[in-house]
Amino acid sequence: MSLADITSRIAKAEANAGRAARSVQLIAVSKVQPNARVQAVLDEGHRLFGENKVQEAAGKWPAFRQDYDSTFVHLIGPLQTNKARQAFGLFDAIHTLDRPKLANTLARLAQEEGHCPDLFIQVNTGEEPQKAGIAPREADAFVAQCRALDLPVKGLMCIPPVEEEPSLHFALLAKIAARNGLEGLSMGMSGDFERAIALGATHVRVGSAVFGERIPPASA
Ligand SMILES: *Cc1c(COP(=O)(O)O)cnc(C)c1O
Repeated sequence: MSLADITSRIAKAEANAGRAARSVQLIAVSKVQPNARVQAVLDEGHRLFGENKVQEAAGKWPAFRQDYDSTFVHLIGPLQTNKARQAFGLFDAIHTLDRPKLANTLARLAQEEGHCPDLFIQVNTGEEPQKAGIAPREADAFVAQCRALDLPVKGLMCIPPVEEEPSLHFALLAKIAARNGLEGLSMGMSGDFERAIALGATHVRVGSAVFGERIPPASA
């Protein structure tokens, strides 16, 4: 796999779904990847990346951003409220707005800082107790709550349960987004991004298929 392979698979999936070319953005998920691999993808011209940890992103992206113009980094992992201010300085978008407390914190920071990253609300489509996200039946009310706080909500995000057919979850997310007038759909990973595109994904989060398998961090 490589960046060029994934880009062409995305283009095919867009065409197969009757969608406009380049209507899907590829978020290259660079978490845990060695810097040399990330730099190679930057050198190929790609400019949109995803990270799942604030600390890890802080350790690599300020330097990469200095060397590569117009680079965008999205947070795709959970955000603790005590790291929200730091996240404002690091990320162009946050895909994991998953609870009222975080919405209130982001709204306060947006006032203080005079700007706010684009936001996606994470929906726990599989209603898995161990997984973050707003329950599907609470999503409409939470979208309204975020809008009342003036937060720039651009769309919804989901991570389907590993054991289930992801298309059911993608379809559910698309339905919730449509009835709330939201255009952004952050869904689809290395194993299922084509199915996500068929169901309307605007942002696919692809890691290992772009960079190669993640090298697991040494266990503590
Ligand atoms: C790691 C991660 C991805 C990318 O996973 P791959 O299977 O490597 O494509 C996508 N989304 C989230 C939320 C992740 O944490």
